[in-house]
Amino acid sequence: MAKSKFEYVRNFETDDACLRNCYIVVRLDGRNFHKFAEQHKFTKPNDNRALGLMTRSARSVMGELEDIVIAYGQSDEFSFVFKRTTTLFKRRASKLMTHVASQFSSSYVFYWKEFFGEQPLLYPPGFDGRVVLYPTNRNLRDYLSWRQADWNTSRRQNEILFSQFDINYNSEPALHKKGTTLIWEKQDETVTKRMKRPDGEEEDVPVTRSRRTVQDYHCDIIGEKFWEDHPDILEH
Ligand code: ATP
Ligand code: ATP
Ligand code: MG
Ligand code: MG
Ligand code: MG
Ligand code: MG
Repeated sequence: MAKSKFEYVRNFETDDACLRNCYIVVRLDGRNFHKFAEQHKFTKPNDNRALGLMTRSARSVMGELEDIVIAYGQSDEFSFVFKRTTTLFKRRASKLMTHVASQFSSSYVFYWKEFFGEQPLLYPPGFDGRVVLYPTNRNLRDYLSWRQADWNTSRRQNEILFSQFDINYNSEPALHKKGTTLIWEKQDETVTKRMKRPDGEEEDVPVTRSRRTVQDYHCDIIGEKFWEDHPDILEH
């Protein structure tokens, strides 16, 4: 096809392909959620409806963008980790980041009612995104540890505030203490299928197949245990 005289403008696009062999992390954070939480009457300091909606939206991202191996979220943020060898969108940072952010934002609105019922969504929420590359397993684990430790620190700083709401820091549920980690897991699923026998009669036959589903955890991801229990997440 003949090129138009306007085509040259394409050359103004810069190459933003992520360095090969690195884990690609996309972190989202809700815009001005301090205000969003107030206006939507989030219970302090941890509104379970809001946390559930964040996790639902993160699941939607994992379902739509293959190659995300783990996601971790707390408060109004979620981090998504693409496997080191991903070639999705030719590893273009802007494509990966904007797809994650828009899929997450539209899901947040789409699933709002499932978590907040009749309480209306007052305005369209937004999320910022950034891309960070980590070359080693240690760096990636330290990144995720940092996010979880950061959560603990900010919660502990608020301990005095928490006591105001009559919450004992230590007896809080794991969801509040540890945040949410999402990973893919294989699960055997048995369904009954109606099959035709050679003699022409039909019968119900159980068929078992292994399906990949997203599993959520509210556990420590800083120590060794989680990684020993799930050795497939990191590429060695
Ligand atoms: P920015 O746009 O810079 O991110 P922000 O107001 O979103 O500003 P954050 O540091 O991201 O600031 O903090 C998020 C705030 O959102 C928390 O301090 C809290 O007030 C509120 N928030 C988020 N999730 C929840 C929740 N599940 N329950 C209660 N409050 C929440
Ligand atoms: P990609 O994910 O790579 O962007 P795509 O299917 O979205 O794939 P585009 O090149 O973005 O491909 O093209 C958008 C397509 O969406 C159009 O080719 C057309 O089929 C359809 N489309 C978009 N807007 C309209 C519209 N207003 N009316 C009818 N069709 C539309
Ligand atoms: Mg912020
Ligand atoms: Mg925020
Ligand atoms: Mg935040
Ligand atoms: Mg398109």
